[in-house]
Amino acid sequence: MIIDCHVHPTAPGDDPRAVGEYMIHFADRVGIELMGQSLGPTFIQHATPGEIESDNDFNQTMIELFPERYFGYANLNPNYLRHSMDEIERRVVDGPFAGLKLWVALRCNHPNADAVARRAGELGAPILQHTFFRAGGNLPEESSPVHLAELAARHPATTFIAAHAGLNWEMGIGALIDSPNVLVDTCGFDPEMGYTEMAVRELGAERVVYGSDGSGRSFASQLAKVHGADISDEQKAQILGGNMKRVLGL
Ligand SMILES: [Zn+2]
Repeated sequence: MIIDCHVHPTAPGDDPRAVGEYMIHFADRVGIELMGQSLGPTFIQHATPGEIESDNDFNQTMIELFPERYFGYANLNPNYLRHSMDEIERRVVDGPFAGLKLWVALRCNHPNADAVARRAGELGAPILQHTFFRAGGNLPEESSPVHLAELAARHPATTFIAAHAGLNWEMGIGALIDSPNVLVDTCGFDPEMGYTEMAVRELGAERVVYGSDGSGRSFASQLAKVHGADISDEQKAQILGGNMKRVLGL
């Protein structure tokens, strides 16, 4: 079973049904059974509570239309902490979302992220945290794997996924070696040789998960990082689906 832990509803289409069907069409070609949605049809870096809810509504409709094919991470902007906490209750406790998504609105070692991480741990909801070491310097509130390592150390019972493994993945993997509750995904950078091998060697295959960042990246180019890696078939199966099954409690 292949689970894509990291996609966005940015594919062509005007509504959740059209976008959902479009992505399923291509996922079926490469054997992806389940996809994890977050953010929205257009990316808003500093989303207001209204914009957060609108994007979560979009993904919630898609999950409810295609429950066998999608799961979701509810978007939060922890600058609006009360709203974030309410949205966790609405989307994860009372709704169909499996996890939470934190992007670039607030650096994840900020105290506001602690309340989110604590509640996520109580609920068993993984947090998909964007992490970049951006060439030329990060955005003012953009998190790096170093910031995520700080947050994760304060919340050992919460599971985090470091999206993009920091983009500069040699630095990203290095920053997360001592963070056993953080997994790294494979998405959002070019299909360079050596990434998956290094992640497995340094973190263990149980801490690496396949994600594409579709539709911003193709499924195939990101799957190639796993299919083409010099690791065992058993490790590939863990990365492609086994680890996310564990994280999602499937
Ligand atoms: Zn993404």
